[in-house]
Amino acid sequence: MPASVLIVEDEPAILELIGVNLEHAGYETLRAASAEEANRLLGEVLPDVVLLDWMLPGQSGLALARRLRGDARTREMPLIFLTARAGEPDKVAGLEAGADDYITKPFSTKELVARIRAVLRRRKPQHGEAPVEISGLRLDPVAHRVAGGGQALALGPTEFRLLHYLMTHPNRVYSRAQLLDEVWGDHVFIEERTVDVHIRRLRQALAPSGHDALIETVRGSGYALRAESAAVSRG
Ligand code: CA
Repeated sequence: MPASVLIVEDEPAILELIGVNLEHAGYETLRAASAEEANRLLGEVLPDVVLLDWMLPGQSGLALARRLRGDARTREMPLIFLTARAGEPDKVAGLEAGADDYITKPFSTKELVARIRAVLRRRKPQHGEAPVEISGLRLDPVAHRVAGGGQALALGPTEFRLLHYLMTHPNRVYSRAQLLDEVWGDHVFIEERTVDVHIRRLRQALAPSGHDALIETVRGSGYALRAESAAVSRG
């Protein structure tokens, strides 16, 4: 079954261009010209990926992203911002609203398709993997749950994958480029700054049980998850 992409874009010509190109690339497309229309469509069907324009009439793309991330039904849905706003604060705001990626207009179809493939690849469930526990922080890849000292912690999908990777490779320092390769599956199109945004969100998610202290920033190098070797257990 082809993956489906919901395109939310108010410029009819751009909507048509993206739609036709994605269908050529083998995707099924759903199209919405506003956040309100996207909301209506999402009430009926859950696409595999949402491409979301930032500047929309009525509700903004950013507000829609926040709403989708706040709703259990759409929380895990991959979200890519598509926008003419190239400024750094906008990128950070987009990623903090829960977007998985951010593409600046103008972009090539090749780049768009590569990024959609990358988010879909990242969303593939990791079957049959054992839970891992470090210093009272437990991650269950199958149930998709994280608990710190028995307390359930809410992590976004990217933070979950990032934590899973770091917990299964503790006490090693990873550069941003390495993390993009290992966790995002791509460092060609995604900026290294993205890693910092998700590390910050991961720390916030782990803070309620104090496990944010496990994530260490190694100046000039990258990030590591610190664990006493004796405290690492699988199973
Ligand atoms: Ca627009």
